[in-house]
Amino acid sequence: MRIAVLKERASGENRVALTPETAKKFAALGATVAVEEGAGSGASVTDEAYREAGVEVGPAAQIVKDADIVLGVQAPDPSALAGAKPGAWVAATFDPFRNGELVEAYAKAGFEALSMEFMPRITRAQSMDVLSSQSNLAGYKAVLVAANTYGRAFPMMMTAAGTVQAAKVFVMGVGVAGLQAIATAKRLGAQVSATDVRSATKEQIQSLGAKPVFVENVAGIEGEGSGGYATEMSEEYRTAQAELVSSHIAKQDIVITTALIPGKPAPRLISDAQIASMKPGSVIFDLAVAQGGNVEGSKPDEAVVKHGVTIVGFSNTAGHLAADASALFARNLYNFLSAFWDKEVGKPVLDEEIGDAVRLTQGGKVVNDRLAG
Ligand code: NAD
Repeated sequence: MRIAVLKERASGENRVALTPETAKKFAALGATVAVEEGAGSGASVTDEAYREAGVEVGPAAQIVKDADIVLGVQAPDPSALAGAKPGAWVAATFDPFRNGELVEAYAKAGFEALSMEFMPRITRAQSMDVLSSQSNLAGYKAVLVAANTYGRAFPMMMTAAGTVQAAKVFVMGVGVAGLQAIATAKRLGAQVSATDVRSATKEQIQSLGAKPVFVENVAGIEGEGSGGYATEMSEEYRTAQAELVSSHIAKQDIVITTALIPGKPAPRLISDAQIASMKPGSVIFDLAVAQGGNVEGSKPDEAVVKHGVTIVGFSNTAGHLAADASALFARNLYNFLSAFWDKEVGKPVLDEEIGDAVRLTQGGKVVNDRLAG
């Protein structure tokens, strides 16, 4: 069983899908592990560190030759996989709803694409879930970047020269990233409030010591929502939410938006008029900027100033903490493959619940239910 890892080719992608730690664990299962030269450099992993972990390090064509499994953060172009075994598995993120052509190309090339974003949200798959591991770090980073952009302090400070007021932070969307954003802003000493469409998040917000701000007159999504995911909201809800946000946002110094809907563009949560109501010097971090943005006018990797408010957001937030993000991503992949490792045949054998959920292509065809129609 040969497991190969290429250097990520996407611009700004500093992460890597394998660390020396997970390489040793794969070797302990009996696999041969090979990594392209320089693959870990963006995440502070040297070729030497891989070699010390028993990994073969070399040029891309050599690494990929005869691979049974290729691991990636972002799925490589199938042309980079020439020489891998027919039907080889590629476990990576594919962004399948937006990358239809890539998925088709994988089918055509005869590889089995395993999309880590499609990992079901079930207890046993939690340790395999790259969306969670990466969102958690992204939520943390968003607050740090916002704090760094903000021209004032986060905590209240009583000094001989007078009192510095605590910053007011509002987190919109309380999934994995939002919860970490709340916790991080609290640790920095801010006054934190938060909102979501799923009612189950209300208690989670309170348990972190933040104030829930919820639409009360129109029903949101009961409990966790389907599989923990939100859906698009009704016109009536959106109107009520916009009114609520308008009255709250003008009093905030920092807003962190994290709202996503699987398979749909990110919902628009903040309009230009609402930005104009905020105090000059306020900062908005739009974590959904790469999925279309929660904030009107936000641009990936640019600081946009509108009405004196700075709007920031990264196309790849987790890539800004590449070392930790890679360590967690690599463990997610190891946890996934090792859970299914069949010692007798010396390779992983997926079950239906998880295998069918993540598998996009097989036998030359697109086979995933979520991509049908
Ligand atoms: P996500 O990234 O899909 O969305 C972020 C948040 O935005 C969600 O809380 C969502 O409800 C919210 N949102 C969507 N539209 C909104 C709108 N119009 N206004 C305000 N908020 C809006 O979500 P996520 O971070 O991936 O996780 C969501 C849930 O799934 C969490 O409760 C998490 O605990 C759960 N989860 C479970 C597992 C597991 O059991 N294996 C794994 C991951 C996540």
